[in-house]
Amino acid sequence: MSSEQREREVVAAVDKQLLIAGKWQPAADDATFDVEDPSTGQPLCAVADAGVADGLAALDAAAAAQDSWAAQPPRERAEILRRSFELIMARQEDLALLMTLEMGKPIAEARGEVAYAAEFFRWFSEEAARIDGGYAVAPNGQGRFVVMRQPVGPSLLITPWNFPMAMGTRKIGPAVAAGCTMVIKPAHQTPLSMLALAGILIEAGLPEGVLNVITTAHAGAVMEPMIKDGRARKLSFTGSTAVGRKLLEQCADQVLRTSMELGGNAPFLVFDDADLDAAVDGAMLAKMRNIGEACTAANRFLVHADVAEEFTERLARRMGALAIGRGVEDDTEVGPLIDQAARDKVTSLVSDAVDRGARVVVGGEAGGGTGYYYPPTVLADVPPSAKMAHEEIFGPVAPVTTFATEDEAVAAANDTEYGLVAYLYTENLQRAFRVTERLQTGMVGLNQGIVSNPAAPFGGVKHSGLGREGGKVGIEEFLETKYVAMALR
Ligand code: NAP
Repeated sequence: MSSEQREREVVAAVDKQLLIAGKWQPAADDATFDVEDPSTGQPLCAVADAGVADGLAALDAAAAAQDSWAAQPPRERAEILRRSFELIMARQEDLALLMTLEMGKPIAEARGEVAYAAEFFRWFSEEAARIDGGYAVAPNGQGRFVVMRQPVGPSLLITPWNFPMAMGTRKIGPAVAAGCTMVIKPAHQTPLSMLALAGILIEAGLPEGVLNVITTAHAGAVMEPMIKDGRARKLSFTGSTAVGRKLLEQCADQVLRTSMELGGNAPFLVFDDADLDAAVDGAMLAKMRNIGEACTAANRFLVHADVAEEFTERLARRMGALAIGRGVEDDTEVGPLIDQAARDKVTSLVSDAVDRGARVVVGGEAGGGTGYYYPPTVLADVPPSAKMAHEEIFGPVAPVTTFATEDEAVAAANDTEYGLVAYLYTENLQRAFRVTERLQTGMVGLNQGIVSNPAAPFGGVKHSGLGREGGKVGIEEFLETKYVAMALR
């Protein structure tokens, strides 16, 4: 089979309708919208475009299924997640191709994301059977405290396009494990991975109504009535801080529980005592994973003045040697950005930095042709006033600035309203702990350029969000605590 034929087949295999109450169905008004391949700018297929009535129908289904789903034995919920994990891994190759087609990332990274996504199901299948409570004697001896954990209830889940499957399993896994029903809305650019994932969960035995999927090109109009409906009890959102803020306001109406995984502006600190080989390797990962389109992407390289020149040159050599192309090709290391707006944003951030005095070491010019490509770029002498020092670049651009002292480095690292992750390279143990404690972030990569792991608590502070996903605490986001004051005579 030719590669074009295989691409067509994996797209054709996905059900492109809405999943409501266990049935695949078109939007009430039969509307559809196109999904595009960012490497060509051409449409791949059309999917159902849900309207307000479809969203509320999905919420009806989730609300109707809540009580019976919460009553399912935890072991049965666990087994569904475990079977889904196995099905995903059995289909890793097709799912990776589908993801690359709609999102653009290199196929090797898509394979990695599929495995990472599946791992959340394995992790939460193990957590489902470990939900526990408490029993204590009241301090005055006059009664007993019983603490029980119960599912929050019907949950609304909203995911972004940059990790089309993992951002879904990171929410669906704990929601299923905790006994919550849900409506999930993937990003309009990348609905196919989520639709394929939903098909797998159904195949693995998830009862109807537990997971409902709505795809829409009108996210705001469709989600707001669901958020304000009163039957949904929780919103878990991954996306930009601007949209997260708006959603928090909407959630205030019905006092919804919220989990917010928002934007980042990660500093990458390299001290003069760092292992530079490790720092450059880590920088490549922290910057170039997902073409720089990651909330965890290193956004500002803060390098001690004594090693800045060498670090910048070595990074530029590695960045300049990366192979750019369609993600579906096996040797591609850098795919296209998600859309024209993303490429325009990166282009304007680079020209703003250059206008303010930054020097282009490598890259810096978007090429022509089809697809939304932007070349790996390293900028030196980027002044703190540059817009890219304050905004998410979300592209393959590494701005380098220098510092002289530890205090200066920490102050620069914390000089942002974001607080998701920071990376820190030093061989000095004292400094490693001193600086780690002072960094205002939810996560720190210590001599390591990647922090994501399903078994660890992922999340940010400040404007990067509320709550944690993954790890032991991930399931807590979908559980309520009920305390029973018991008289004992
Ligand atoms: P986005 O524009 O905020 O969109 C995220 C999701 O929200 C999409 O499904 C989008 O739907 C939906 N949405 C947009 N406006 C909405 C509204 N008014 N009401 C309800 N839903 C709405 O973000 P993005 O561009 O897709 O993703 C990139 C952002 O996500 C970056 O800021 C990145 O840092 C962040 N992110 C954070 C994490 C984390 O764990 N902290 C992980 C990954 C990404 P449409 O697609 O239809 O607009």
